[in-house]
Amino acid sequence: MKPSTRPVEELDLFVNANQQFEHALTWIDSIKAGIVEYLITAKRTIHVRFPVNMDDGTIRTFHGFRVLHNRARGPGKGGIRYHPDVTEAEVSALAAIMTWKTAVADIPFGGGKGGVSCNPKELSRGELRRITRRFVAELGDSIGPYTDIPAPDVYTDQQTMAWIYDTFDQMHPGQNNLAVVTGKPLEIGGSVGRDEATAQGSLFATERLLKHDIVPGVVTLDGIRVAVQGFGNAGATAARLFDEAGARIVAVSDSRGGIRSDNGLDPGAVLAHKNDTGSVTGFAGATDISNEQLLACDCDILIPAALECQIRTENAADIKARLIVECANGPVTAAADKILQQNGVFVLPDIVANCGGVVVSYFEWVQNLENQKWDLEKVQRRLRKRMVRAVDHTVEQWNSLNTRSHGAPAGRESVASLRDAALVMAIKRIATVVQQRDIWP
Ligand code: NAD
Repeated sequence: MKPSTRPVEELDLFVNANQQFEHALTWIDSIKAGIVEYLITAKRTIHVRFPVNMDDGTIRTFHGFRVLHNRARGPGKGGIRYHPDVTEAEVSALAAIMTWKTAVADIPFGGGKGGVSCNPKELSRGELRRITRRFVAELGDSIGPYTDIPAPDVYTDQQTMAWIYDTFDQMHPGQNNLAVVTGKPLEIGGSVGRDEATAQGSLFATERLLKHDIVPGVVTLDGIRVAVQGFGNAGATAARLFDEAGARIVAVSDSRGGIRSDNGLDPGAVLAHKNDTGSVTGFAGATDISNEQLLACDCDILIPAALECQIRTENAADIKARLIVECANGPVTAAADKILQQNGVFVLPDIVANCGGVVVSYFEWVQNLENQKWDLEKVQRRLRKRMVRAVDHTVEQWNSLNTRSHGAPAGRESVASLRDAALVMAIKRIATVVQQRDIWP
């Protein structure tokens, strides 16, 4: 067989996030020399190696790091993940995505991300507690309410955030330290609405985008067919909220596979089935499908809510949805972006679609600093307002890029995507602040 001449696509979040950033830059006519170089590289990466007493009496050394990508607009903000495959490149890409996301959401934060290389599935609660406390002690004053504020991410949760807060509080007695971390349990300064914030924000953002009437044939969620990849915090909640908003959930999946029913799935019943059996597959009345079949299924809106680089060169042309709402971070590769655009598929990018999570984290931070407790109605009202504004500004920027693009210079596509627009907006917002603050000294 003749070997393929097509270049192998790199399914790497860092590579794709950089390509998408560079693609957006082609839409910026002028930017002060040196600012791009400043924005593309992380401000600081801290590596720590620390010993932990294990339950079996041995001592194990763990490797953790925290990347502060940019803090021009405010303290760093971003999750901490515990995973055996955590790498500096992946965490750096996620930290940069946080910088763009907080700028798009227009909240006074920069971007950060952290991780510890470990396998939480093989660690006891006591071991996880000791890892967390020692990691926070090693990070010292590089995190703090006004410097860099962690949050939950893959395999870290409210309990991890409670340990982070408590450790930091022990190290800084006599002051209110609640705002050092978000995603805490409600009883110690967590915010109502945080658990659902990402999916809730995606719903608000999608409803607003449809009001702009730019996705042909999809102007309301009523009766719209939605497929969701990933049935965890973001995906299962999105399925429920989109269903409640009038959409029909025709397919969902998790790491073991997917299910499909053209009559519509009841997300609550699917979640109960997953809780009982460990997977959405085998759900009564639905047909089992593969994850590839889920991505390519006949639907109007596709919500990837699992992992990065899921929609790529090899499957982008199979997508039948007219709109992709990126609940996950980086689910579409840079090469797939082009194919989708050529095929008229709109993508509401991650930095807009899933910024509801960090918006409610910001609300938690504000409540902690002001010793306040907001109710759910207030959190949701303010979240909706932020999401509507983020979408409106993105669409405004998109319209402006595309109006201006007649006779586009070489090296630029003829039509800007919503991702280009959101990134251009974020880059410009950060560049403005950098120039207003001016470079110290
Ligand atoms: P989670 O761990 O709760 O859920 C992930 C889901 O994806 C699980 O159901 C898992 O079974 C499924 N999955 C794993 N591999 C899969 C595969 N190959 N095919 C299909 N499904 C697969 O995680 P989460 O918090 O829901 O996060 C999901 C995505 O959303 C991530 O990209 C995350 O960065 C992003 N995100 C989450 C939040 C949040 O607040 N939870 C905020 C912003 C972005």
